[in-house]
Amino acid sequence: MFPPHIHRDRRERLMQLIGPRSVAIFASPPEVLRNGDSHFPFRQSSDLLYLTGFGEPKSTLVLKPDDSRERVVLYVRPRDPEGETWTGRRAGIEGAVATYGADAAYPSDQLGNHLAKLLANTEELHYSVGIDKNLDARVVGTIAAMRAAERKLGRAPTRIVDPRATLHEMRLHKSSEEIETMTEAANIAGEAITAAMRAVRPGMTEYQLQALVEQIFRNRGANGPSFPTIVGCGNNATTLHYEENSASIEKGQLVLIDAGAEYQYYASDISRTFPCGRSFAPAQRDCYKVVLAAQEEAIRAVRPGTTIDKIHQRAVEVLAAGMVELGLLRGDPSQRIADGAYKKYYMHRTSHWLGMDAHDVGDYTTRNGDARLLEPGMVLTIEPGLYIPASDTEAPASLRGIGIRIEDDVLVTADGARVLTASAPKQPDEVC
Ligand code: MN
Repeated sequence: MFPPHIHRDRRERLMQLIGPRSVAIFASPPEVLRNGDSHFPFRQSSDLLYLTGFGEPKSTLVLKPDDSRERVVLYVRPRDPEGETWTGRRAGIEGAVATYGADAAYPSDQLGNHLAKLLANTEELHYSVGIDKNLDARVVGTIAAMRAAERKLGRAPTRIVDPRATLHEMRLHKSSEEIETMTEAANIAGEAITAAMRAVRPGMTEYQLQALVEQIFRNRGANGPSFPTIVGCGNNATTLHYEENSASIEKGQLVLIDAGAEYQYYASDISRTFPCGRSFAPAQRDCYKVVLAAQEEAIRAVRPGTTIDKIHQRAVEVLAAGMVELGLLRGDPSQRIADGAYKKYYMHRTSHWLGMDAHDVGDYTTRNGDARLLEPGMVLTIEPGLYIPASDTEAPASLRGIGIRIEDDVLVTADGARVLTASAPKQPDEVC
């Protein structure tokens, strides 16, 4: 975990950005019941983690930039020896102050009662509605009550602002500590996917490769996958988010794995496609080379000042030319780009932001709707693919049922790009 001063600096920066006469509230997501009294594993909101490092449920951060005594307040579960016997150790009120740097801390169930006092005589409330319906109702109820009894409760804020625009802009630009953590997340995923490549044998199941990948994640200190692991062999690889992972892998089939580790709350996201056997079949190799060329060209295009759209365009150009060469499309590749025909075999985008979330936050466009320019410190994926379903009778017979995706995590640097996932091989002769 990062030392406390990192979270403190982030809070100070955010408070500077939201300005005086405002209050910001960041709540953890509600715990979700799986069945009976058993919950789905809790994952703290990345916004709250980014600002505090505090991972426990039922926690809320309140920032009041111009409060002289309690600028940073945490609402947390108090220590409770009996409760902790069941659900584990808690930092408690004392820990929230001593370890997490709050000026003051209170029990979670006090937040509702404190709301009027927290909101009183501020101009702006920075709060994301729609995450916790109960808290939404308390916030709205409190504001209504304050408007009705202004002289008793104090003036209610006149504006409710979504703090994510500001905070997510901060999260989009990674610091050197974040890049170091993301490099480790990438190394773990690279090691895991390489191990799966080396282990695959005919008769193994997709879920056995998933187990191998996730075993390495956990063994290397990652919390687990950063999104559901995809292992698809043969035609299953043509389903983009195939998560069933139940089929038996046959000799000669291609296997597509798309997996990422979450290490200290930072994600990696990597895809490799490789044959079950000693070599690619000729048609598989032809398709693979097209996707690899598109991926390498797209990575070469990553540098400050370019845009995700331009990178995508470069990948599409190489893929469309390859589709014509492979006999999937006819005519002039630029025409097939113009009329969108290539989307039959490449229907997704080439990149998304990567950070604490696998599909990380941050605007893809400016406020005017223009594509935003890449800057050093941004991290994105480069993941072109080619998907030819077995049912596609228009495709050459030898190509049907081939699905390929190659994905790396790429950091924008001052003079270009650094591939964080370079430890996983991807040249055709290396993946067999
Ligand atoms: Mn991805």
